[in-house]
Amino acid sequence: MKIAIATKNNGKLKEFEELAKGTPYEFIKIPENIKDLPPETGSTFYENALIKAEFISKQLGIPAIGDDSGLEVDALNGNPGIFSARYSKTGIDKDNCLKLIKNLDGLQEDKRSARFRCCLVGYFEGKIIQSNGTLEGSIAREFKGTNGFGYDPIFITENGKHLAELEKDEKNTISHRSEAFKKLLIKVSELINKSFEE
Ligand code: IMP
Repeated sequence: MKIAIATKNNGKLKEFEELAKGTPYEFIKIPENIKDLPPETGSTFYENALIKAEFISKQLGIPAIGDDSGLEVDALNGNPGIFSARYSKTGIDKDNCLKLIKNLDGLQEDKRSARFRCCLVGYFEGKIIQSNGTLEGSIAREFKGTNGFGYDPIFITENGKHLAELEKDEKNTISHRSEAFKKLLIKVSELINKSFEE
């Protein structure tokens, strides 16, 4: 069965490619002729993930999975949250990180706690499934590591390493995205088995 991954984010795509290995499904990227996804007008990760999944599923005529994710910083009352990709004026990863470091200036370690959240929504012929994953950590004062994307260089994991210092398979064993993906795969197979029974 073919399932489209409804994202244009290369960082996410690379992670999904790894996560998809060994699954019984063929995960495919959005074709080049679909230039843009619809605006993220939802007020939750779930609503935004659904917008992406439904749009791509209807465009391609196959099931699709939408990912909406972001970083919640406790000292900023959960921001940037659903606005993580658009936190700075440019929306460039480095600028987003710099703005976050600046906004936490002067805060001690115990006030820098944060978590990544990932919500995945599967849109399968009008049927909707969802799953969530989180990764707890804290926000660093400086960049470290060259792997990953987004806020990975300034996110300190519970073992003390910045997320961008981890190899992709190491990140995939602990990440919010891998947790959500594993849970979603179980729901996908339940949905498929159920539709065979009907
Ligand atoms: P979305 O495309 O609206 O879901 O934007 C998600 C944004 O959250 C990304 O552009 C990153 O800035 C951030 N983000 C989500 N997941 C990760 C991750 O695994 N590492 C680093 N940043 C992430």
